[in-house]
Amino acid sequence: MNRLCIHSITNKPWSLDTLIEKYSGSGVPAVTIWEDAIKDHGAKSTGDKLRLSGLKVVSYARGGFFPDLNESNREKYIDRNKQMIEDASLIGAPLLVLVCGADPGQSLQHSREQIKYGIEAVLPFAADFGVKLAIEPLHPMYADTRSAINTLSAANDLAEYFDSEWVGVAIDVYHLWWDPDLKDQIQRCGRKGNILAFHICDWNVPTQDLLLDRELMGRGCIPVNEISNWVDEAGFDGFREVEIFSNRYWKQDQDLYLRDIITAYHETYE
Ligand code: ZN
Repeated sequence: MNRLCIHSITNKPWSLDTLIEKYSGSGVPAVTIWEDAIKDHGAKSTGDKLRLSGLKVVSYARGGFFPDLNESNREKYIDRNKQMIEDASLIGAPLLVLVCGADPGQSLQHSREQIKYGIEAVLPFAADFGVKLAIEPLHPMYADTRSAINTLSAANDLAEYFDSEWVGVAIDVYHLWWDPDLKDQIQRCGRKGNILAFHICDWNVPTQDLLLDRELMGRGCIPVNEISNWVDEAGFDGFREVEIFSNRYWKQDQDLYLRDIITAYHETYE
């Protein structure tokens, strides 16, 4: 089975219609839809287009961002996540990715408690709509504002705390490749049945931008294939999702770039 999935943000310059046409026409079997991709048409119509195309929708990105010093903001964020769960169901995504969030005005511990509270608050909605929640640990360089969950160990702890079929983990090589405990934590995640998603790209050397300079698999220093093997050995057989934010690639011809993505994917897994 071709396990290639591409995140819509990877080809950010393309509209939803173009994206669907190009992926379908290139034999890409699956897509993860980012929130900005549904803005023009809304979730329902986006879902109709995707169902018609035959593309499999792997997940919807990205919910989360629960922590805030201000309580009324935290309530707003919980409402936003409930809306995203509903939208995920409308577009046909069985999974909502959670970038958990952090507020630099408070301790990481406070942010972590608010993340736990936030997931607890939206979990019944997730179950009602049949949408799983994937906690995605982010590289510690994003612990200021993007996520207070920074290791797979911390994400495993959180997922196991909920002990729910509706909560698991998204493993992203970009965020986790440096961790000496990675293989053990992947095995732990697999034993609990908590590996819900697997994101791939590479770490550009030297990195020009810590957010928007991700690289194609095989062109950086992440052992993508080795980590993929660990994930597979832990029992994961879902899609490998190419998620690349890149100011360089977004400026290039997207048709040529898509061809390079497909080539890089097959070279990684040949
Ligand atoms: Zn990711």
